[in-house]
Amino acid sequence: MPTPNAVPPLHGYLPSQAAHTYKAVGRCIYCGSTHQLSDEHIIPLGLGGRLVLPEASCSICSTKTSRFERTCLRTMYGPLRMLYDLPTRRKKGRPETLQLKVKRTEASEWEYVQVAQERYPFLITFPYFEAPGALTVVEKFEATGPVTQRLWIRGASPHHDFHELLQSLAEELGVHSLMPESKAEVSAFCSLLAKIAFSYTVAERGVAVERSGLASIALGENMQNCMHYIGSVEKDEPPSVFLHELSLGHHTRDDSILVRLRLLAKLGTPTYFVVVPSQTHRSMTE
Ligand SMILES: [Zn+2]
Repeated sequence: MPTPNAVPPLHGYLPSQAAHTYKAVGRCIYCGSTHQLSDEHIIPLGLGGRLVLPEASCSICSTKTSRFERTCLRTMYGPLRMLYDLPTRRKKGRPETLQLKVKRTEASEWEYVQVAQERYPFLITFPYFEAPGALTVVEKFEATGPVTQRLWIRGASPHHDFHELLQSLAEELGVHSLMPESKAEVSAFCSLLAKIAFSYTVAERGVAVERSGLASIALGENMQNCMHYIGSVEKDEPPSVFLHELSLGHHTRDDSILVRLRLLAKLGTPTYFVVVPSQTHRSMTE
């Protein structure tokens, strides 16, 4: 029986990304291998990505990329994917109840209770960054690895005032307070951004396979120079009509390509920029 405050169904709330299959590459875009090639989903299928670059990733590299993709999809966007019914390879495995941290009385300790998936106060999290180091005019860029000072966190359902949702849920569960939790896997997320930008540039422009710093981040290997290539903008843009926003621009100063990327843009999420260095996008087109 539906509860008075039941969350309206959100299946179909998020628009689909227009499907597009690019020309097959015929070798691994990350390492150049021609062995056991598989198709690369530029944005993961689990986030509704439908841009496909065929025969573009070898088995070794796709094991590496799927590792951080899985981390992001499960820990950061897993609940959200349930809420919006985004694609999954194993739908049957989705739990009907999820655990939520609650305090029964003001004085009691935090504990976990099971809450039906339809009533769960899902959060969605994105890290904010500085502008990419490659775009800022500084004497010397200091390599730091993935860092964020600030997170974008929202209640995942667009139909609710999140505080009202929490309040009515606390009443319903008969608890004093509850604490929705979310995780930001910043390093895995940076690799995801790098992978999307890198494979998208290859798909659109054709790219020389070179072991660039960005490719190494896109494989989750060496994250040291991560913030040189990746950044976000300070100010949020209004929610998009598209599921994701992904586009290429030129950064003229040294001919690097600048990829603009906004995952789940329909939810009003932050905008990211990834710098694809010029030496990695030249020779295949020439
Ligand atoms: Zn490879």
